[in-house]
Amino acid sequence: MDIDALRAHFPALGQSVNGKPLVYLDSAASTLKPQAVIDALSHYYAYDHSNVHRGAHALADRATAAFEAARDAVARFLSGSGEAVRREEIIWTRGTTEAINLVAQSWGGANLCAGDEVLISEMEHHANIVPWQMVCERTGATLKVIPVTDAGELDLEAFESLLSERTKLLAVTHVSNVLGTVNPVAWLTQKAHGVGAKVLIDGAQAVAHIELDMKALDADFYVFSGHKLYGPTGIGMLYGKFELLAAMPPWQGGGEMIDRVSFEGTTYQAPPFRFEAGTPHIAGAVGLGAAIEWFQALDRKALEAHEASVFKALDDLLRTTEGVQVLGSARDRLGAVSFTVDGAHPSDVGAFLDQAGVAVRTGHHCCQPLMARFGVPGTVRASLALHSTKEDVFAFGEALGKAKRFL
Ligand code: PMP
Repeated sequence: MDIDALRAHFPALGQSVNGKPLVYLDSAASTLKPQAVIDALSHYYAYDHSNVHRGAHALADRATAAFEAARDAVARFLSGSGEAVRREEIIWTRGTTEAINLVAQSWGGANLCAGDEVLISEMEHHANIVPWQMVCERTGATLKVIPVTDAGELDLEAFESLLSERTKLLAVTHVSNVLGTVNPVAWLTQKAHGVGAKVLIDGAQAVAHIELDMKALDADFYVFSGHKLYGPTGIGMLYGKFELLAAMPPWQGGGEMIDRVSFEGTTYQAPPFRFEAGTPHIAGAVGLGAAIEWFQALDRKALEAHEASVFKALDDLLRTTEGVQVLGSARDRLGAVSFTVDGAHPSDVGAFLDQAGVAVRTGHHCCQPLMARFGVPGTVRASLALHSTKEDVFAFGEALGKAKRFL
């Protein structure tokens, strides 16, 4: 694989930051954008933009075609090499956060009541905690939490003992944005289905790293953000099994989502439009469609092997650096490694690395309960994308060594 040619797709990688070549190790927060996505956005805005659906002219038709073609691209992407996902099963949202809130408010509001339980885990992002707290408060349901082991894995025995007929929904992350842990989501889904619970998987950190096949996974809902998949910000999606979506009430009212409106009463469209009130982020969808097509044209198997070797180099470097403590040691990990440096605040480490052109993220990573679990206020997180290289890891290691001497 020609990694230099691949890196040339990303204009941002060609620049210097603070006088040093950019080493971008913050892809778990948001990925850089390839030229193909920037061009698709620019072309759409330059030539094809109008409002979508019911248009009476050529530009509206072109915008609608591009917008709906992007929905088809997402459906194909989530089908893997297995059974096809229906386009009606793909709902545009602003991102992962909005997709989870949609399910919590619409499905949760209609299906949860006192005595029911929602099961999440201790390694969830706040986006997969707070919406469930809110709907539990509203409906009287109870939130239960699967603990995380010292290795940073879900405690599967505890999971099985927490699971019961009271469990109405399991909501877990596919990959931890802090630890990089890959959870056994197919197994978890099967177990949850065994007690009649529905399953939502937060795919925000999986989507750019793991080939997805919704029908094989069998989760009821799957969510991700476009900006973590080389696409634009402000766009993401909810996949839901059609029969579930069809039984869910709308969560926001307005244009697009209605069938007929009168003051006597209003009827609603079928999914996906029932859940897409108002003018959507058309350019965002077009850009995400372009990102998926660009990504799918690459050799995914070769990229996975390349990323795994860079991940191992990063992990080995951190584990063999004196005075550095890595959080978790799960058997199955990818994408991100979190660590602390003895005697140094994570944000000072981040600021020092930035001076060396190395971009990382510091803080609680929207996972305060997980920080509390590991007894740290925050960490430094280095995370990878398909353009990451061992040279990036060496540059990071050198800058970290200097930071440790200085701080
Ligand atoms: N879940 C996980 C695991 C994440 O990493 C993130 C983003 N950091 C989110 C949810 C929220 O994604 P967004 O802010 O794009 O809605």
